Amino acid sequence: MPSPEGQINADSAPTWFAYCPRCATPMQTAPVIDKPRRVCPGCGYVYFTDPKVGVGVAVVASGRLLLVRRAINPERGKWSLPAGYLDHGEDPREAAAREALEETGLVVAVDELLDVIFNPPGHGGASIFILYRARQTGGTLQAGDDADAADFFPLDDLPELAFASTHAAVARILRS
Ligand SMILES: [Zn+2]
Repeated sequence: MPSPEGQINADSAPTWFAYCPRCATPMQTAPVIDKPRRVCPGCGYVYFTDPKVGVGVAVVASGRLLLVRRAINPERGKWSLPAGYLDHGEDPREAAAREALEETGLVVAVDELLDVIFNPPGHGGASIFILYRARQTGGTLQAGDDADAADFFPLDDLPELAFASTHAAVARILRS
């Protein structure tokens, strides 16, 4: 059974990264600084496995938390915060508002940072999850994108949640 550290190291040099995107030479695995990584023997290009970053919003109104039901796997049918992946070059606050609008139909104003949550490899979803508090400023509740339902739930009676990171985020919201 590999240690979590071993899995992280293995993830630093994924063999599916087969060819150099610059010169098309087959990539090799070699130590770079602190970890094995995929390296091009032709031009020296190194593939760094950057973490996937997710952004999401905590919208609480009248003691009820806004959640969306996942229409796709992983964790289809379970509920999560309105959230999604940060695009390259995108401001995380704008991404959080964009995801809220896409998944719930609500226009939100993004307020303070609530938490940054680390989600270890193998748990599904983003590896770094940025959680903002937000409040509705417009729009109409309407599920969309990869959510097939969107609703507000009492904080003491939430439906089944997806992802360890969702549980951690909701625990953080309940403490706030
Ligand atoms: Zn190359």
